[in-house]
Amino acid sequence: MKTSIRAFIVIQLLCLGGQAQPRPAADLIITNAKVWTVDRDHPAAQAVAVLDDRIVAVGAGAEVEAWRGPGTKVIDAGGKLLLPGFNDAHVHLVSGGSQLDAVQLTDAASPEEFARRIGERASKTARGEWIVGGDWDETKWDPAKLPSKELIDRLTPDTPVFVYRYDGHLGLANSVALRLAGVTAKTLDPPGGVVVRDGKGNPTGILKDAAMDPVYRVMPALSHEQRVRVVKRALAHAASLGVTSAQDMNPDYADIAVYAELAQHGELSTRLYVAPYITGFEDQAKLGIRHAFGGPFLRMGAVKAYSDGSLGSSTAYFFEPYLGQPNNHGLLSDEMHPVSLMRERMLKADAAGLQICTHAIGDQGISIILDLYTDVETAHGDADRRFRIEHAQHMAAKDFDRFARLHVIASVEPYHAIDDGRFAEARIGHDRCSRTYAFRTFLDHGVRLAFGTDWDVAPLNPLLGLYAAVTRATLDGKNPNGWFPQQKLTVAEAVEAYTMGSAYAEFQEKEKGSITAGKLADMVLLSDDIFTIAPEKIREVKVEKTILGGKLIWDAASPPAN
Ligand SMILES: [Zn+2]
Repeated sequence: MKTSIRAFIVIQLLCLGGQAQPRPAADLIITNAKVWTVDRDHPAAQAVAVLDDRIVAVGAGAEVEAWRGPGTKVIDAGGKLLLPGFNDAHVHLVSGGSQLDAVQLTDAASPEEFARRIGERASKTARGEWIVGGDWDETKWDPAKLPSKELIDRLTPDTPVFVYRYDGHLGLANSVALRLAGVTAKTLDPPGGVVVRDGKGNPTGILKDAAMDPVYRVMPALSHEQRVRVVKRALAHAASLGVTSAQDMNPDYADIAVYAELAQHGELSTRLYVAPYITGFEDQAKLGIRHAFGGPFLRMGAVKAYSDGSLGSSTAYFFEPYLGQPNNHGLLSDEMHPVSLMRERMLKADAAGLQICTHAIGDQGISIILDLYTDVETAHGDADRRFRIEHAQHMAAKDFDRFARLHVIASVEPYHAIDDGRFAEARIGHDRCSRTYAFRTFLDHGVRLAFGTDWDVAPLNPLLGLYAAVTRATLDGKNPNGWFPQQKLTVAEAVEAYTMGSAYAEFQEKEKGSITAGKLADMVLLSDDIFTIAPEKIREVKVEKTILGGKLIWDAASPPAN
């Protein structure tokens, strides 16, 4: 199929200037657009023609119009901004989909509403399947009183329920769930946990912190059908946000099986690159799967490693201690004990041709990974291996040069900057924060950026990421002119990191990442021109249309039912 399209393109080129010969008409033409191509040779255009799943022409209206035939579908963009589809370099697709698929309780304004939603969900839930999630918030109720199992037991006689408070530190179990977990009046409070009891000493259903563990232990893993369902939820969400490609970190193998099944049925509407745990690198190595192996919808051949923890939990690993905690430098991950074992894994994974992506957040956590990457390069010589550091949050000043020299990709999430920016200085002080989410410094050193979200840790919406990178305005409103504003990016730089940058990070810069003839026709039409509106308005911009491989998979004018 593709060969024949290429052949047609060649025929067309040969005939330029000659007399008319049959050439295929475009399947789709987008006209009257402000096209920002992210193609440095031809940054701007007005129209795009698509044949099958590829872009065949990009240019002025008249040039592209020549591709129109009787069957060509035409989208008049009304002068709006057309960008390449967004490529999220770091997501957790199944967690994200699970969150979307869960019963939604955050805005339940009363205990009655809370119970009604759970009851409604139970009536649609297969027998024996759990109802989990919810993220409820009793402070929105009057009086603000924790719920008890009696509120929902009658509505859920056969359905185990365990719904969490939004902070994740406590949950409400119904009687079915308590029975399965073996929690009774006789259950003692575990260290670090509380089983809340009524006047007679019976559990009310509220379990705090470590007391939740017995419930987690009996909660079943997702079934194949559930996994298919949550992946479909995630894909629909991605389409509505213009995310046409995503790089899935730490999937279970069962997740990849679902992606493969959907891809085979033509239902995978986000192009995925998957990076399972490095601890299982031998599985891919045995099959001889190398980086970016697969097809346009599903690729593998990457592995994901962990260096350290996170800033939020004070476990990111630093050279200097956390402020006010002289003995806490953070923690290396269990995969790093000992570091020599991680080196060995990386050497073997690299020898097998796998791409290595490592979560590293604290400056020392990052530095050690750069040491290991250096060891791999020294042992195996120069190659286009595209090492990645995921998050790359807090850089030591001495490491920017090394980062660039090793051609390491900084796979970063700008939304985390405006989120962590609320509390980072209190944890690690001003100096270290000046090299935190240091996107400008990375670019100045010639480091390639790939943008992502870490969804479901942060929202999947790319416009929020662009907003964050361009404004660096923290979520608490305290830095309207930008938190460390010298690290702000321009809109063009941020868009490039979210498209070409992410495509490069998965070895696909020749296939996607820009609106260029020959590339996959993945594009988004935005409600507003992010290049000209006030930067603080970027977060309000919506995706009006998402086109994947030439097909319209999201249209805000006619969103899918449910
Ligand atoms: Zn992550």
